[in-house]
Amino acid sequence: MDHIRENLLAVEERLDGALARAGRRREEVTLIAVTKTFAADVTIAAYNAGLRVFGENYVQEFEQKAPLLAQLEGAQYHLIGHLQSNKVNKATPLFHCIQTVDSAKLAQRLQQSGRALEVMVEVKLSEEGSKQGCAPEDLAALVDSIRAMPGLSLQGLMTMAPFFDDPEQSRPYFARLRAMASAHHLPALSMGMSNDFEVAVEEGATHIRLGTVLFGKRSPRP
Ligand SMILES: *Cc1c(COP(=O)(O)O)cnc(C)c1O
Repeated sequence: MDHIRENLLAVEERLDGALARAGRRREEVTLIAVTKTFAADVTIAAYNAGLRVFGENYVQEFEQKAPLLAQLEGAQYHLIGHLQSNKVNKATPLFHCIQTVDSAKLAQRLQQSGRALEVMVEVKLSEEGSKQGCAPEDLAALVDSIRAMPGLSLQGLMTMAPFFDDPEQSRPYFARLRAMASAHHLPALSMGMSNDFEVAVEEGATHIRLGTVLFGKRSPRP
């Protein structure tokens, strides 16, 4: 799995370039290694290469992997896929941060789990049917509800831009998310994936979520 180390070096170099263009520092950006669909040994190899924050999309998949990762001291896991209400009780012991809160009902379920959790609100900025997320016009109300829930610590906003061949086309989506976060005084901005993370960092991303560029192509889910 030496390719992970090499890929990470290449990513860090590109990240440095984007940070320099934006006049930002490396500590301002958390690299989330997206390990969905890969076996636990890939997460372990990524940890050994120095990565500490991991993104997973599917509660059931991660529930299988988590026991195999118990020795990875200091590793943190973010849920970046849609969370169904009926999986909340499975999810809350497994994840440090739930990035995909998109309704007050889901937030309430998380709050009722009784665990202290970091959360982000996923905002739907594109019209692509498959994308989950809170509609921009509903964001203010959702932010208010979550802030009234003492168990949940609202960190910021998360979004997925539509896929473009030219990453420059993602820029207006990222700029819009940044403006929304700023309007609500939210510090965290989870945006940017393998194809557009440099643009996201230029637009202020504090969390970038990278899978393919670190681990190669995913096979379809079994
Ligand atoms: C899979 C996934 C990623 C990683 O995508 P890559 O293009 O492989 O970097 C990031 N964010 C979310 C929400 C994802 O589902």
